[in-house]
Formats: sequence, C-alpha cells, structure tokens
Amino acid sequence: MTGNESRAQAIYEITNREPIAPKAPEKLEDLWASNVFDLSKMKASLPKDVFKSLKKTIQTGEKLDPSIANTVASAMRDWAISKGAMYYAHVFYPLTGATAEKHDGFIEPQGNGEVISEFAGKLLIQGEPDGSSFPNGGIRDTFEARGYTGWDVTSPAYILETEQGATLCIPTVFISWTGEALDKKTPLLRSISVVDKAANRLLSILGNKDIAPVSSSCGAEQEYFLVDANFANARPDLLLAGRTLFGKAPAKGQQFDDHYFGAIPARVQAFMHDVEEKLYKLGIPAKTRHNEVAPGQFEIAPVYESANVASDHQQMIMTTLRDTAKSHGFICLLHEKPFAGINGSGKHVNWSIGNSTQGNLLDPGDTPENNMQFLAFCGAVIRGVHKYGPLMRAVIANASNDHRLGANEAPPAIMSVYLGSQLEDIFMQIKDGKLEGSSHKGQMLLGVDTLPPLTKDAGDRNRTSPFAFTGNRFEFRAVGSSQSVSGPLIALNTMMADSLSWIADQLEGKLSGGGDLGGAVQAVLKDIMDQHGAAVFGGNGYSDEWHKEAVDQRGLLNIPTTADALPYLKSDNIKQLFESTGVLSNTELESRFEVYAEQYVLSIEVEAQLVADMAKTLIYPAAMRHLSESAGAIANLKDIGIEIDKAPVEKVAGLAKTLLDGANKLQAACEKHDFGSTEEHMQFCAGNIRDLMNEVRTAADTLEGEIADDLWPLPTYEEMLFIK
Ligand code: ADP
Ligand code: MG
Repeated sequence: MTGNESRAQAIYEITNREPIAPKAPEKLEDLWASNVFDLSKMKASLPKDVFKSLKKTIQTGEKLDPSIANTVASAMRDWAISKGAMYYAHVFYPLTGATAEKHDGFIEPQGNGEVISEFAGKLLIQGEPDGSSFPNGGIRDTFEARGYTGWDVTSPAYILETEQGATLCIPTVFISWTGEALDKKTPLLRSISVVDKAANRLLSILGNKDIAPVSSSCGAEQEYFLVDANFANARPDLLLAGRTLFGKAPAKGQQFDDHYFGAIPARVQAFMHDVEEKLYKLGIPAKTRHNEVAPGQFEIAPVYESANVASDHQQMIMTTLRDTAKSHGFICLLHEKPFAGINGSGKHVNWSIGNSTQGNLLDPGDTPENNMQFLAFCGAVIRGVHKYGPLMRAVIANASNDHRLGANEAPPAIMSVYLGSQLEDIFMQIKDGKLEGSSHKGQMLLGVDTLPPLTKDAGDRNRTSPFAFTGNRFEFRAVGSSQSVSGPLIALNTMMADSLSWIADQLEGKLSGGGDLGGAVQAVLKDIMDQHGAAVFGGNGYSDEWHKEAVDQRGLLNIPTTADALPYLKSDNIKQLFESTGVLSNTELESRFEVYAEQYVLSIEVEAQLVADMAKTLIYPAAMRHLSESAGAIANLKDIGIEIDKAPVEKVAGLAKTLLDGANKLQAACEKHDFGSTEEHMQFCAGNIRDLMNEVRTAADTLEGEIADDLWPLPTYEEMLFIK
C-alpha cells in the first residue's frame, strides 16, 4: 500500500466493524476468585493441621513447614486439573519489569509406558528455569547460569486461562544459585518484613501492648490508552516502541477537557467489562474505571491489597489489559507518553502501612492519643522523602517515564512531599517549637502529649506533587504507567523502616532518662523538621519558581533524566540504606544499576534506529512524491502561462533535506560505542541521541502539515485518538 491507503483501509475497517455482542453478565459471586487457590479452597481441600500451618505462614509470615509441601501440591494439582489445567508454571518477575513463566506438565511417565499426573511438593517449592536469558547485571556468568524459582506462599496460586488452555500459575521468587535476588519480588518481600519489624518496635515504644504484624498496602491506579489495531498496525513506532515517534499535534487535543469522566464509548465499555470479568476470576478487585484527561485515555484501579499481592496483581492487570485489547481490535498502550503534546499516563501508587491491632498507621484518626502515633509515622515519611529522594527518583526512572516527568502535566523530577495545609501547618508549628493547635475547625491543643485531633481530609488534593498525603495514605504520583510497582514499594518500605528505626533509637535515648513520651515525640519530630523539613512542599510543583526554590534555597535535587537518576543507586547513602536493612546487598544493588542502565540505553537506541528507518523509508519518500507531483504541476501550469508561487515546494524540499540529514546523523551517532563508562553512555543517549531524534521529528511533523494528505503514510493523531 502506498500513501494513505493503509489509513483509508483502517478507517473503513473501523467504521464498518460489527459491534461485539454484549455478553450476559455473570454473577459476581460465581466469578469472584473462581480461578484462585485461595484460603477457602485450601481449607476445603487440605487436612486441618496442614491448612492451619499454611495459613499461619500466609498471614503472619511464619517460616513455611516443608513437610506439608507434598500435601499442598497434590491438593493444588487436583484443583487445577478440575479446572482443566494440564500444566503448571512458576511465575516470576525478572528485572525487565515483565512477567516470566516456565511451564511444565503434570505428566509423569511411569517406565511401563503409562503416565500419571503428578505434582510433588519439591516441584511446588522450587524450580529451575534456564535463567541465562534474564538480565542479572553481572551477578552470574552464563556458565553458571543456574537460577532458582521459589514458591511465594503469601501470594495465592491461580489458573490462567488463555486460548491455548489453562495453566496453574504459582507466584515465585527468582534467585541465583549463590542466593542473590535476580527479580523484583525477593527484595519486595524483604522490605515488607523490615518495615514490619521497625514499625512493631516503634509501636511498642509508643506504649502499645498487643501488636499484630504490620503490613504495607498498595492500591495502584493504572492509566492507559486504547488505539484501534488497524491504525497501530500501520505505525511501526506504536508496534515496536509503544509510542508515536512522529505525529503532528491534532487541531483538537484535550483543550476542551471534555473526555475526563465523560461517557465511555460502547466499544471501550465492552472491553472494560471483559477485562474486569477476567480480573474478578483471578481475585483482583478492579473497582474504578473512567475516562482520563486525554482523548483515548482510560483508567482502571483495583481496591488496595497487601503490597506483595498488589504487586503481582498489578502485573496481571497489565497483561490482561494488553491481551484483552487484542481480542477487541485495540492495542493497549501502557507507555508513559504515547502521544507528544497529549497527557501521558501514570500509575499512582497509593501506599500505607498498618495492622489489625492499631489499624492504618497513616490514618490521623479522631482520637488525640492516636495522633502522636500518627505524627510519628508521618514524620518518618518526611525524613525518608528528604533523605532518600534520589532513590525515589531512581526507582521510577526509565526511558519512557522521562517523557512524562516534569513535562507540566506530571510531577516534576524533584522529590518533595505534600501534606495538605492542616498537617503542614502542624509540622511547621512543631518545627518552630511551639505547637499551639490546629488551624482548622478551631481544634485546640489539650496538652503536649495529646496533640490536636486532625480531620480525615487534612488538606486539599495537590496534583502537582510527586508524593502526596491523601487523607490516610501517601500517593506516589510520579510512578510511570508501564512500570512494575515493586520498585517504588521496595523504596517506600525500606526508607520507612530506616526512619522508623531511627525514630525508635532517638526515643529510646530520650526516654532512658525517664522523660515523658509526648515531649520526646515532639522533640524527635522537631529534629526531623529541622533536618528534613525542606522536602515538605504544598505549592505548585509545576511552577518555575518551585524549581528555583527547591534547588537554590532548599538544596533539593532536580534529577531530570534516567541517565542522571540511576547513578544514585550507587551512592553511599542508598547503598547503606539497603545494606543495613538487608533488603539488597551491594552486589544486588550494583547489578540492578547495570541492568536498568542497559535497558535505558537499549530502549533509546531501538527508538533512534526506528526514527531513522521511518524517516527514510516512509516519510522521505512521501515528501519526494509530493515534490514530484508539485513540480509537474508547476511545469504544466507554466506551459499554459500561469506562474505559481514556488515557496511551498521549496519549503517541502528544504524540510525533506533536513529530515534526511538528521536521520543520517542519528544513524551515525548510534554507531558510537567507545564509551568510558555506563554513565557516559547513558548521558550520550539522554543528550545527543534524544536531541537528534527530536531534530528528525520536528522536520517530519512540519512536513505532515505541508504534504498532500493522500500521500501521508502514517495514521494521524486525529485518527488514532478520535476514531473508535
Ligand atoms: P482517587 O480519588 O485518587 O482516584 P480512589 O478512592 O479511587 O482515589 O483510590 C485510589 C486507590 O487508593 C485505590 O486503589 C484505593 O483502594 C487505594 N487506597 C485507599 N485507601 C488506601 C490505603 N489506606 N492504603 C493504600 N491504598 C489505599
Ligand atoms: Mg488518585
């Protein structure tokens, strides 16, 4: 097909598409968790003592008793077979951010030509996929490529149904034969355990007697775009890079804000319905769905769950969105910035910690005596954000999120924390050493140890903050839509554990001489505000003034790109944090830096190559056809005595030359490989390569506004965003 034939064809296909007949909705009770081997199914199928032991491990983190593995495995197998599964898979989460599976059959040959289905306990507990193809950042050489998967009892096994059949999926960790984490789950589990210990210790110092294990929770709001597959198939950039590398801004973008919370198109609704049904079967509590700000953009959010399960579920949500989109004739874009000039997609990670005895520890509550506790936990967060801001920036750093952060629609690349006006006011009073009362609702301070009651919504929303308190949790808004939530959760849990331990140390010191608890807490909080209060910011995070104030007056770091952010993973401060808490050893941290840096470089180089290819093979030829037609027309007109302005043709000729020159320079730049260090290579990508890509794009996008529409080879922004 030439010119816009592929576009015309796509529009024809879309407008003549048979609507997908709505399915009769199944009852929620029938669907819910029907494909999950959850506690109720365990209870029904396991001997009482085995169930009790397993439940204890799941709920309290008690060590797994290996002697029950055979019994559990065989119950799991029977249940899986009854659901039509012939295979089982250990599912793990390598550093690529994807989900990996190794499938094995239940089949066991018996030597006499017969087979039985078997699933031994040892196969449930441990697997050995060929790990050599997963990135490890230098932890292993391929000759010692052994990697092991290990059953994560705390995340339930489930049946995954695909067109190829059903598979029993077992969530696992993935570690090297020397015991180092090669995945995202292992450090997440470690971080969950260290924050539990630290919180328990502080709760006990604060006078609590009965203290249940503290767990961290996550509710992640996922934004995404849907584009018709007919368009996507005509755009190599969408297929290979997940975003448009070219495209002129549409005449109508999101200026009218009429998409947000608007009616969901019927076709999209059918898609969402299908997604939700699949998620319900997997026990994933998808709850909110709506249109997002940009045309063609939507959001799905499950109800929050424990961090580990939420993280596994987040991966399943992304997979389900992508797969289901295909069967509805869409492509689902999880990229942070699929369309330049149009709002990007984030994944707001709502995070809190709490337990069954003290409740949500980030909930201000309405009893004064709990406020001291709440303020201590809140103070721990403030200290963490200030001390480990670069870590928070590094865990959300990748090539795609760089397009979004700081781009006047998403949080800036400066880490600060928004508390809301009431809470900020209280912390500022603590800093000034004269806590007099809350400015809101006329509530007054009753005494030093009975801090003022807070209202639940202790402030307005602030959409310009990367990390905002939202009433009873913090919302990490800077996380990118394509990212695994485990990195952010590991960072939050670990820095929280560090701060809680620090506060506990301080309090123990102050109380050892027999001081009063309320006074000691206030003194520690004042210390935190004196040292770390610079991270508290309630103003407009998008403004230029903030960028100046943050850097010049407050000494906060503005870390614009991944190339700038990732090296912080190797800073002493962050190495010390992970080493001292035991969440990541130096080797593991170093290997993560290497893997993420390599992914960054690779994804930019792939895009750069694609930019050059598309410029040369799609856009330049279109410009030449346009020029040739125009030149012919001008010559013909001249023959009959009409002189016509040549300026537009000259303009297109000039742009075509700029385009081609840019593409050649870009290709040459991609050839460069003699870098002194990984850091240098990353900077080259962030600077030189990205600049050249932009140069080519600018020429191409200008050409799109000059060339005859019927010659333009790529589906336009208007078409992709507005035709459904
Ligand atoms: P928003 O107004 O930001 O869209 P929602 O009420 O839709 O807020 O919640 C966003 C996410 O925050 C949901 O996943 C929700 O379950 C989660 N959430 C609510 N409370 C908590 C909490 N205490 N800890 C963690 N996540 C929470
Ligand atoms: Mg939100």
